[in-house]
Amino acid sequence: MMQEIYGITLEELKAWMQQNGQPQFRAGQIFGWLYGKQALSFDQMTDLGAPLRAKLAESFHFSTLKQVRILRSEDGETEKFLWELQDGKKVETVLIYSADRRTVCVSSQVGCPARCSFCASGKQGLIRNLSSAEIVEQVLQIDRHLKGRGERVCHLVFMGMGEPMENYEAVVKAIRIFCSPDAFHISQRRITVSTVGVVEGILRLAKEELKVNLALSLHASNQNLRKKLIPYARKYSMEEIITAVDAYSHHTKRDITYEYTLLAGINDTIESATELAELLKGKQCTVNLIPYNPVEGIRLDRPEKRDIEQFRETLEERGICTTWRFTKGKDIAAACGQLALQQ
Ligand code: SAH
Repeated sequence: MMQEIYGITLEELKAWMQQNGQPQFRAGQIFGWLYGKQALSFDQMTDLGAPLRAKLAESFHFSTLKQVRILRSEDGETEKFLWELQDGKKVETVLIYSADRRTVCVSSQVGCPARCSFCASGKQGLIRNLSSAEIVEQVLQIDRHLKGRGERVCHLVFMGMGEPMENYEAVVKAIRIFCSPDAFHISQRRITVSTVGVVEGILRLAKEELKVNLALSLHASNQNLRKKLIPYARKYSMEEIITAVDAYSHHTKRDITYEYTLLAGINDTIESATELAELLKGKQCTVNLIPYNPVEGIRLDRPEKRDIEQFRETLEERGICTTWRFTKGKDIAAACGQLALQQ
Protein backbone atom coordinates (compact mmCIF):
# COMPACT_ATOMS: atom_id res chain seq x y z
CA MET A 1 0.00 0.00 0.00
CA MET A 2 1.21 3.50 -0.86
CA GLN A 3 2.05 5.60 2.17
CA GLU A 4 1.87 9.36 2.51
CA ILE A 5 5.44 10.68 2.50
CA TYR A 6 4.65 13.66 4.74
CA GLY A 7 3.46 11.36 7.50
CA ILE A 8 6.73 9.43 7.75
CA THR A 9 9.20 10.17 10.55
CA LEU A 10 12.93 10.21 9.91
CA GLU A 11 13.31 6.97 11.87
CA GLU A 12 10.70 5.26 9.71
CA LEU A 13 12.34 6.47 6.53
CA LYS A 14 15.71 5.21 7.78
CA ALA A 15 14.13 1.80 8.40
CA TRP A 16 12.67 1.84 4.90
CA MET A 17 16.13 2.61 3.47
CA GLN A 18 17.59 -0.31 5.35
CA GLN A 19 14.89 -2.67 4.10
CA ASN A 20 15.58 -1.50 0.59
CA GLY A 21 19.35 -1.93 0.79
CA GLN A 22 20.10 1.79 0.94
CA PRO A 23 22.37 3.68 3.32
CA GLN A 24 20.44 5.38 6.15
CA PHE A 25 21.80 8.86 5.44
CA ARG A 26 19.54 8.94 2.39
CA ALA A 27 16.62 9.46 4.77
CA GLY A 28 18.07 12.79 5.99
CA GLN A 29 18.78 13.74 2.41
CA ILE A 30 15.15 13.17 1.46
CA PHE A 31 13.94 15.14 4.49
CA GLY A 32 16.12 18.02 3.28
CA TRP A 33 14.41 17.87 -0.09
CA LEU A 34 10.92 17.60 1.39
CA TYR A 35 11.09 20.26 4.08
CA GLY A 36 14.12 22.42 3.30
CA LYS A 37 13.92 22.70 -0.46
CA GLN A 38 10.21 21.86 -0.44
CA ALA A 39 10.46 19.56 -3.45
CA LEU A 40 7.16 18.44 -4.93
CA SER A 41 8.23 15.12 -6.41
CA PHE A 42 10.96 12.51 -6.06
CA ASP A 43 12.12 13.41 -9.57
CA GLN A 44 13.35 16.74 -8.27
CA MET A 45 15.69 14.96 -5.83
CA THR A 46 18.53 14.98 -8.32
CA ASP A 47 21.21 13.62 -6.01
CA LEU A 48 19.37 10.30 -5.66
CA GLY A 49 19.87 7.63 -8.30
CA ALA A 50 17.04 7.03 -10.77
CA PRO A 51 16.25 3.48 -9.51
CA LEU A 52 15.87 4.75 -5.94
CA ARG A 53 13.65 7.62 -7.06
CA ALA A 54 11.46 5.17 -8.97
CA LYS A 55 11.25 2.86 -5.95
CA LEU A 56 10.29 5.77 -3.69
CA ALA A 57 7.61 6.91 -6.15
CA GLU A 58 6.14 3.39 -6.09
CA SER A 59 5.99 3.37 -2.30
CA PHE A 60 4.98 6.89 -1.30
CA HIS A 61 2.69 9.56 -2.59
CA PHE A 62 3.00 13.27 -2.12
CA SER A 63 0.38 15.92 -1.73
CA THR A 64 -2.89 15.40 0.06
CA LEU A 65 -4.18 18.91 0.79
CA LYS A 66 -5.60 21.07 -1.93
CA GLN A 67 -5.73 24.77 -1.18
CA VAL A 68 -9.28 26.04 -1.64
CA ARG A 69 -8.89 29.61 -0.42
CA ILE A 70 -7.03 31.95 1.87
CA LEU A 71 -8.88 34.66 3.80
CA ARG A 72 -6.91 37.54 5.24
CA SER A 73 -8.20 39.58 8.18
CA GLU A 74 -8.55 43.32 7.69
CA ASP A 75 -5.69 44.13 10.03
CA GLY A 76 -3.48 41.68 8.12
CA GLU A 77 -2.57 39.81 11.31
CA THR A 78 -4.39 36.59 10.55
CA GLU A 79 -4.82 34.40 7.53
CA LYS A 80 -7.17 31.45 7.39
CA PHE A 81 -6.47 28.61 4.96
CA LEU A 82 -9.18 26.26 3.80
CA TRP A 83 -8.00 22.90 2.43
CA GLU A 84 -9.77 20.10 0.69
CA LEU A 85 -8.64 16.62 1.69
CA GLN A 86 -8.47 13.70 -0.67
CA ASP A 87 -11.89 12.41 0.32
CA GLY A 88 -13.44 15.84 -0.28
CA LYS A 89 -13.67 16.76 3.42
CA LYS A 90 -12.46 20.21 4.36
CA VAL A 91 -10.30 21.54 7.13
CA GLU A 92 -8.96 24.95 8.19
CA THR A 93 -5.66 26.25 9.52
CA VAL A 94 -4.89 29.71 10.87
CA LEU A 95 -1.64 31.65 10.49
CA ILE A 96 -1.10 34.39 13.05
CA TYR A 97 1.39 37.21 12.51
CA SER A 98 2.58 38.95 15.66
CA ALA A 99 5.78 41.00 15.75
CA ASP A 100 8.40 38.61 14.41
CA ARG A 101 6.43 35.47 15.27
CA ARG A 102 4.69 33.33 12.72
CA THR A 103 2.39 30.96 14.58
CA VAL A 104 0.35 28.26 12.92
CA CYS A 105 -2.82 27.05 14.61
CA VAL A 106 -3.15 23.47 13.38
CA SER A 107 -6.25 21.27 13.15
CA SER A 108 -6.00 17.65 14.26
CA GLN A 109 -9.43 16.34 13.25
CA VAL A 110 -12.32 17.09 10.92
CA GLY A 111 -15.00 18.14 13.39
CA CYS A 112 -14.45 17.45 17.08
CA PRO A 113 -15.77 14.86 19.53
CA ALA A 114 -15.67 17.24 22.52
CA ARG A 115 -18.75 19.25 21.55
CA CYS A 116 -18.14 22.09 24.00
CA SER A 117 -21.24 24.26 24.29
CA PHE A 118 -19.49 27.47 23.19
CA CYS A 119 -17.44 26.14 20.25
CA ALA A 120 -18.31 25.92 16.56
CA SER A 121 -15.90 23.06 15.81
CA GLY A 122 -17.78 20.35 17.66
CA LYS A 123 -21.32 21.22 16.64
CA GLN A 124 -21.58 18.17 14.40
CA GLY A 125 -19.28 15.96 16.41
CA LEU A 126 -16.28 14.12 15.03
CA ILE A 127 -16.19 13.40 11.30
CA ARG A 128 -12.76 11.80 11.15
CA ASN A 129 -9.18 11.96 12.35
CA LEU A 130 -6.55 13.65 10.22
CA SER A 131 -3.55 11.54 9.24
CA SER A 132 -0.09 12.64 10.38
CA ALA A 133 0.59 13.68 6.77
CA GLU A 134 -2.51 15.89 6.71
CA ILE A 135 -1.35 17.56 9.92
CA VAL A 136 2.22 18.05 8.68
CA GLU A 137 1.11 19.36 5.31
CA GLN A 138 -0.93 22.19 6.85
CA VAL A 139 2.33 23.56 8.20
CA LEU A 140 4.41 22.70 5.15
CA GLN A 141 2.11 24.56 2.79
CA ILE A 142 2.03 27.60 5.06
CA ASP A 143 5.81 27.48 5.34
CA ARG A 144 5.91 27.52 1.55
CA HIS A 145 3.49 30.47 1.53
CA LEU A 146 5.81 32.39 3.90
CA LYS A 147 9.01 31.43 2.14
CA GLY A 148 8.41 33.93 -0.66
CA ARG A 149 8.80 36.68 1.93
CA GLY A 150 11.83 35.07 3.53
CA GLU A 151 9.82 34.01 6.59
CA ARG A 152 9.21 30.69 8.28
CA VAL A 153 6.77 29.12 10.68
CA CYS A 154 8.35 29.25 14.15
CA HIS A 155 5.53 28.47 16.61
CA LEU A 156 2.81 25.84 16.50
CA VAL A 157 -0.33 25.46 18.53
CA PHE A 158 -2.69 22.49 18.29
CA MET A 159 -5.67 24.75 18.82
CA GLY A 160 -7.46 24.45 15.51
CA MET A 161 -10.32 22.07 14.91
CA GLY A 162 -10.33 18.80 16.83
CA GLU A 163 -9.17 17.27 20.09
CA PRO A 164 -5.49 16.34 19.62
CA MET A 165 -5.50 13.74 22.42
CA GLU A 166 -8.23 11.81 20.60
CA ASN A 167 -5.94 11.49 17.58
CA TYR A 168 -2.89 10.77 19.68
CA GLU A 169 -0.63 8.72 17.38
CA ALA A 170 -0.99 11.00 14.36
CA VAL A 171 -0.44 14.11 16.48
CA VAL A 172 2.69 12.73 18.16
CA LYS A 173 4.11 11.58 14.86
CA ALA A 174 3.49 15.01 13.34
CA ILE A 175 5.20 16.64 16.34
CA ARG A 176 8.27 14.41 15.79
CA ILE A 177 8.42 15.64 12.19
CA PHE A 178 7.97 19.28 13.25
CA CYS A 179 10.83 18.99 15.74
CA SER A 180 13.18 17.02 13.51
CA PRO A 181 16.34 19.04 12.69
CA ASP A 182 16.19 17.55 9.19
CA ALA A 183 12.61 18.79 8.70
CA PHE A 184 11.06 21.91 10.28
CA HIS A 185 13.39 22.05 13.29
CA ILE A 186 10.79 23.81 15.43
CA SER A 187 11.80 23.74 19.09
CA GLN A 188 9.61 21.69 21.42
CA ARG A 189 9.29 24.81 23.56
CA ARG A 190 7.51 26.48 20.69
CA ILE A 191 4.88 23.81 20.27
CA THR A 192 1.72 23.73 22.39
CA VAL A 193 -0.83 20.96 22.56
CA SER A 194 -4.20 22.06 23.85
CA THR A 195 -6.64 19.54 25.29
CA VAL A 196 -10.13 19.46 26.72
CA GLY A 197 -8.65 17.14 29.37
CA VAL A 198 -8.21 13.56 28.19
CA VAL A 199 -6.42 12.02 31.15
CA GLU A 200 -4.83 9.00 29.39
CA GLY A 201 -3.52 11.26 26.63
CA ILE A 202 -1.98 13.74 29.07
CA LEU A 203 -0.23 10.95 31.01
CA ARG A 204 0.97 9.27 27.84
CA LEU A 205 2.32 12.50 26.39
CA ALA A 206 4.22 13.12 29.62
CA LYS A 207 6.21 9.93 29.00
CA GLU A 208 7.20 10.69 25.40
CA GLU A 209 10.55 12.29 24.85
CA LEU A 210 8.72 15.37 23.70
CA LYS A 211 8.70 18.29 26.06
CA VAL A 212 6.01 20.29 24.35
CA ASN A 213 3.87 22.81 26.20
CA LEU A 214 0.52 21.71 27.46
CA ALA A 215 -2.58 23.86 27.57
CA LEU A 216 -5.69 22.67 29.37
CA SER A 217 -9.09 24.01 28.40
CA LEU A 218 -10.51 24.45 31.89
CA HIS A 219 -13.21 27.12 31.43
CA ALA A 220 -14.77 26.61 34.87
CA SER A 221 -13.70 26.83 38.49
CA ASN A 222 -15.61 23.78 39.66
CA GLN A 223 -16.77 20.42 38.36
CA ASN A 224 -20.49 21.27 38.42
CA LEU A 225 -20.19 24.25 36.15
CA ARG A 226 -17.65 22.52 33.94
CA LYS A 227 -20.09 19.64 33.39
CA LYS A 228 -22.66 22.11 32.12
CA LEU A 229 -20.28 23.65 29.58
CA ILE A 230 -18.19 20.68 28.47
CA PRO A 231 -19.72 17.24 27.85
CA TYR A 232 -16.27 15.63 28.27
CA ALA A 233 -16.28 16.74 31.89
CA ARG A 234 -18.63 13.81 32.55
CA LYS A 235 -15.92 11.44 31.43
CA TYR A 236 -13.05 12.91 33.45
CA SER A 237 -13.45 14.86 36.67
CA MET A 238 -11.63 18.13 37.12
CA GLU A 239 -9.67 16.64 39.99
CA GLU A 240 -8.41 13.74 37.85
CA ILE A 241 -7.49 16.10 35.02
CA ILE A 242 -5.58 18.49 37.24
CA THR A 243 -3.69 15.59 38.83
CA ALA A 244 -2.68 14.43 35.34
CA VAL A 245 -1.67 17.94 34.32
CA ASP A 246 0.43 18.28 37.51
CA ALA A 247 2.15 15.01 36.60
CA TYR A 248 2.83 16.36 33.11
CA SER A 249 4.35 19.53 34.51
CA HIS A 250 6.46 17.57 37.02
CA HIS A 251 7.72 15.14 34.38
CA THR A 252 8.50 17.64 31.63
CA LYS A 253 9.37 20.69 33.77
CA ARG A 254 7.03 22.72 31.63
CA ASP A 255 4.60 25.27 33.04
CA ILE A 256 0.98 24.68 32.23
CA THR A 257 -1.40 27.07 30.59
CA TYR A 258 -5.03 26.93 31.69
CA GLU A 259 -7.35 28.30 29.05
CA TYR A 260 -10.46 29.99 30.30
CA THR A 261 -13.08 31.19 27.83
CA LEU A 262 -15.02 33.96 29.56
CA LEU A 263 -18.79 33.71 29.10
CA ALA A 264 -20.91 36.61 30.33
CA GLY A 265 -22.94 35.81 33.43
CA ILE A 266 -21.79 32.18 33.46
CA ASN A 267 -18.16 31.84 34.49
CA ASP A 268 -16.99 35.47 34.65
CA THR A 269 -17.99 36.48 38.18
CA ILE A 270 -15.65 37.49 40.99
CA GLU A 271 -16.75 34.35 42.86
CA SER A 272 -15.58 32.23 39.92
CA ALA A 273 -12.26 34.08 39.81
CA THR A 274 -11.75 33.58 43.54
CA GLU A 275 -12.58 29.89 43.28
CA LEU A 276 -10.25 29.50 40.30
CA ALA A 277 -7.41 31.22 42.17
CA GLU A 278 -7.93 28.82 45.07
CA LEU A 279 -7.91 25.83 42.72
CA LEU A 280 -4.63 26.84 41.08
CA LYS A 281 -2.90 28.18 44.19
CA GLY A 282 0.81 27.37 44.27
CA LYS A 283 0.96 25.92 40.75
CA GLN A 284 3.48 27.02 38.13
CA CYS A 285 0.95 28.07 35.59
CA THR A 286 -0.62 30.82 33.57
CA VAL A 287 -4.31 31.39 33.03
CA ASN A 288 -5.06 32.44 29.49
CA LEU A 289 -8.30 34.41 29.45
CA ILE A 290 -10.15 34.18 26.15
CA PRO A 291 -13.22 36.39 25.92
CA TYR A 292 -15.93 34.38 24.15
CA ASN A 293 -15.96 34.75 20.37
CA PRO A 294 -19.46 34.69 18.92
CA VAL A 295 -20.55 31.54 17.11
CA GLU A 296 -23.65 31.45 14.94
CA GLY A 297 -26.54 29.67 16.57
CA ILE A 298 -25.02 29.74 20.07
CA ARG A 299 -26.70 32.07 22.55
CA LEU A 300 -23.83 33.13 24.72
CA ASP A 301 -22.25 36.54 25.22
CA ARG A 302 -18.82 38.00 25.61
CA PRO A 303 -18.42 39.77 28.97
CA GLU A 304 -18.03 43.54 29.19
CA LYS A 305 -14.46 44.77 29.21
CA ARG A 306 -14.67 45.87 32.85
CA ASP A 307 -15.86 42.41 33.92
CA ILE A 308 -12.94 40.82 32.12
CA GLU A 309 -10.58 43.26 33.82
CA GLN A 310 -12.09 42.58 37.20
CA PHE A 311 -11.78 38.81 36.67
CA ARG A 312 -8.17 39.25 35.70
CA GLU A 313 -7.35 41.49 38.66
CA THR A 314 -8.94 39.04 41.09
CA LEU A 315 -6.62 36.31 39.81
CA GLU A 316 -3.53 38.54 39.73
CA GLU A 317 -4.11 39.79 43.28
CA ARG A 318 -4.08 36.17 44.40
CA GLY A 319 -0.75 35.51 42.70
CA ILE A 320 -2.01 33.80 39.54
CA CYS A 321 -0.30 34.88 36.29
CA THR A 322 -2.70 35.73 33.55
CA THR A 323 -2.61 36.57 29.89
CA TRP A 324 -5.48 37.97 28.00
CA ARG A 325 -5.75 36.53 24.55
CA PHE A 326 -6.20 39.45 22.29
CA THR A 327 -8.71 38.19 19.79
CA LYS A 328 -7.36 38.00 16.28
CA GLY A 329 -9.12 37.17 13.06
CA LYS A 330 -12.72 37.64 14.18
CA ASP A 331 -13.72 39.24 10.88
CA ILE A 332 -12.77 36.07 9.01
CA ALA A 333 -14.12 33.66 11.68
CA ALA A 334 -10.61 32.48 12.48
CA ALA A 335 -10.67 33.24 16.21
CA CYS A 336 -10.72 30.53 18.92
CA GLY A 337 -13.79 28.38 18.63
CA GLN A 338 -14.90 29.77 15.30
CA LEU A 339 -13.45 27.12 13.00
CA ALA A 340 -16.51 25.33 11.73
CA LEU A 341 -17.16 22.41 9.51
CA GLN A 342 -17.14 23.47 5.86
CA GLN A 343 -19.38 21.73 3.37
N1 SAH B 1 -9.87 20.50 21.64
C1 SAH B 1 -8.75 21.27 22.13
C2 SAH B 1 -8.25 22.23 21.10
C3 SAH B 1 -9.12 23.43 20.84
S1 SAH B 1 -8.18 24.82 21.22
C4 SAH B 1 -9.12 21.94 23.44
O1 SAH B 1 -10.26 21.80 23.86
O2 SAH B 1 -8.26 22.52 24.08
C5 SAH B 1 -9.28 26.08 21.10
C6 SAH B 1 -9.48 26.85 22.40
O3 SAH B 1 -10.49 27.84 22.19
C7 SAH B 1 -9.99 25.95 23.50
O4 SAH B 1 -9.54 26.38 24.74
C8 SAH B 1 -11.47 26.17 23.36
O5 SAH B 1 -12.18 25.77 24.49
C9 SAH B 1 -11.54 27.65 23.09
N2 SAH B 1 -12.81 28.07 22.48
C10 SAH B 1 -13.70 27.29 21.85
N3 SAH B 1 -14.76 28.01 21.43
C11 SAH B 1 -14.52 29.28 21.79
C12 SAH B 1 -15.23 30.51 21.61
N4 SAH B 1 -16.38 30.55 20.96
N5 SAH B 1 -14.68 31.64 22.11
C13 SAH B 1 -13.49 31.61 22.74
N6 SAH B 1 -12.77 30.49 22.92
C14 SAH B 1 -13.28 29.33 22.46
